[in-house]
Amino acid sequence: MREPGDRNWPDHEVDEFLDQIAAGGQDYRRLVERLPVIVYASELGEQGRWRYVSPQVEELLGYTAEEFKGDPGLWARLLHPDDRLRALEIESEEYLGNRNTSPIEYRMRTRSGKVVWMLDEAVLEADESGVPVWHGVLYDISERKNAEADLQRALSQQAVVAKLGERALQNGDPDSLMRAATSLIGEIDGVHSACIWEVGRDGRRLNLRAGLEDEVVGAGRRVSAARDSHAGAALDSGAATIVSEWSDEKRFTMPPVLRALGAASSLAVMIDGKDHPFGVLDVHATEPHRFSPKDVPFLQAAANVLADAFERHAADQALRHRVLHDSLTGLPNRLSFVDALGDALRRATASGSPVGILFLDLDHFKLLNDSLGHHAGDALLRAVASRLRAHLRPGDLVARFGGDEFEILIDRLADEEEALAIADRVAAAFAQPFSMEGVEHFFSASIGIAVARNSEQRTVNAELLIRDADAAMYRAKENGRARCVLFDAEMRAGALQRLEVERELRHALDRDELALHYQPVVNLRTGEVTGVEALVRWQHPARGLLDPADFVSIAEDSGLIEPIGRWVQERACRQALAWHEERPDSRPLDVAVNLSARQVAHRDLPATVAEIIARTGIDPAHLRLEITENVLVEESATAIASLETLNEIGVRLVLDDFGTGYSSLAYLNRFPFHALKIDRSFIDALGIEQERTAIVEAIIGMARALSLDVIAEGVENEVQLAELRRLGCDSAQGHLFHAAMPEAEISRLLGEGTLDYSGISPLR
Ligand code: C2E
Ligand code: MG
Ligand code: MG
Repeated sequence: MREPGDRNWPDHEVDEFLDQIAAGGQDYRRLVERLPVIVYASELGEQGRWRYVSPQVEELLGYTAEEFKGDPGLWARLLHPDDRLRALEIESEEYLGNRNTSPIEYRMRTRSGKVVWMLDEAVLEADESGVPVWHGVLYDISERKNAEADLQRALSQQAVVAKLGERALQNGDPDSLMRAATSLIGEIDGVHSACIWEVGRDGRRLNLRAGLEDEVVGAGRRVSAARDSHAGAALDSGAATIVSEWSDEKRFTMPPVLRALGAASSLAVMIDGKDHPFGVLDVHATEPHRFSPKDVPFLQAAANVLADAFERHAADQALRHRVLHDSLTGLPNRLSFVDALGDALRRATASGSPVGILFLDLDHFKLLNDSLGHHAGDALLRAVASRLRAHLRPGDLVARFGGDEFEILIDRLADEEEALAIADRVAAAFAQPFSMEGVEHFFSASIGIAVARNSEQRTVNAELLIRDADAAMYRAKENGRARCVLFDAEMRAGALQRLEVERELRHALDRDELALHYQPVVNLRTGEVTGVEALVRWQHPARGLLDPADFVSIAEDSGLIEPIGRWVQERACRQALAWHEERPDSRPLDVAVNLSARQVAHRDLPATVAEIIARTGIDPAHLRLEITENVLVEESATAIASLETLNEIGVRLVLDDFGTGYSSLAYLNRFPFHALKIDRSFIDALGIEQERTAIVEAIIGMARALSLDVIAEGVENEVQLAELRRLGCDSAQGHLFHAAMPEAEISRLLGEGTLDYSGISPLR
């Protein structure tokens, strides 16, 4: 038995039917009533009487043929309100006798409340008594209509997903994307509204992040859904959750806000995330049964677009955070500090209030790192970071520039006095000891302060201000550390000059403006010149001959000391060899060159020296490298390794300016030194100041015990010389013998054989 509503009525059955109708046989009625259609005859008009309707009508609409026949207004009452006018339009005599009336489609409501689509194909003809009667057939076309509607819906859903995907690629912030998503989805036919819920931190509730903007009255009010709602279920199961009819819903509680909008049905899907789900996307309709499993792929696709976008945004944020922060302390790094300082300076131009920065460098940090290890160093940096934050106002910015350098930005400053007061407060952060591996250590910091006022003539930019604070910090170090120094006009002039010198120094090597002067080193027992110290000079085109004090520290800061140092070494070695060639019978002179801390800190130093030895062919035993004490304190980890290697190469290491730094003879034996050079400040006092003379005596005694040669520098008079000889000092240099002199001059003296001090008064 065929059911009414089957779509296809096979052709052969149609033919059979038509044949039988044509035959007008007994079976006419039976046939009509077997058809998968409703055949009817009804009088014209909304209230027209139904003379006949085949019984299939009951299966389709839930009302019997008898009910139709007995209730003339029933058909019109069952018309869907939206289609009613259209369907009633043809109830007019003008169609009488027109055999080509076109079929119309409309919806009807069945007894159970379901909506079905009908195709009504009829002709209006008058009966014998002239009453116009429709003779027609009603087909159930719901399936086709639904398929069409589904297709339409799928197309509009796809369009929404495509638009959303495009929107997501614009890389806006997640909030605006979420708002765009809910408004796009809310435009789909039949969808009243869409919402995005985010799982709360505690995981217990879902908080509304987008959608229902009109329903959520009172801005800032938090709207949430309970975990036992449909949204919570979607989240827990990871599967789509459909509520067909909220009024019948037993499984889930309805979020109050949905009640406010009058939701009758809903569909929710999860928005997933890489580590944990982000939340839920749901849609609501004011009609029941609006959502079916067919809608799930669409909504899930939209949710996935959102999930991807959130993921991308989170990755971007993480990357941005990494780029702008220091990973060890979590503080902003140089990049973000410069940015923030730039902003503050721009604001200051408008507001007129000064901006200050503090440049803070821990004192003796390297010593800690080397003695207690990097873990301790890292722990200290983290502890310092949190102390600094605690000692500042909430609006002040603390950044780490790397190493043991911290910068602090003080926005809206009254004056320099206030900046100094804040610096003192920051310094007070070091009043308490830091506990490292159970032991308490005290640390201090050197702080440079620079303040920018917009009244100043020069335009202050961030980099310039940082450089000023840096220079002030260096001054604090020079003045003995553990103090605050405010950058002033004099330092500014100095800083500017340094910049200028650095610029010129870059060309000094190419332009052959550097030269070496040599000072003889005299053996105090024999009076013989056993070596020379090479001292660099700069023949400045405008300023004349410059001493190392005028440019070496600039060369160190700028890194230029590396190429300059290589030049000095090579030049000195070649000169020593040239002198030896001129006097092949004399013992070769030892040649000493000075190394800066920066050169010693450089891993490549041994390789550089080895290369110069190989290139020049000098005997390494005649090359002396002079290193000052602070090198050992600041850089000992790398330095020890380099010094060991240099010692293996065979060069002699000399500890220069001994006594000016940490004066600890105790750690001398940790380094492979051949000799130490007592600083001029001790020699000055020799024979005049009892105490210093005693120190020199102790130094010489200790050096002996460690098998180190002792050299005295800055010997200017006979008294000093006598004292040194009395104390058993091995060698000396100084103006008493000869000041440092240009290459040509010392070459001449050596050639003449007049550079000799064997006439110095014999010992005792
Ligand atoms: P230094 O290595 O301690 O060199 C000794 C300094 O004392 C030299 O000054 C020398 O001219 C000076 N001097 C020598 N005898 C006397 C004396 O009797 N009385 C007085 N008052 N001074 C005396 P100079 O040449 O100005 O060098 C200063 C410093 O510059 C050197 O101290 C050294 O640390 C550095 N330096 C010189 N040349 C180089 C170089 O090629 N590379 C590096 N990195 N540093 C260098
Ligand atoms: Mg020296
Ligand atoms: Mg010296």
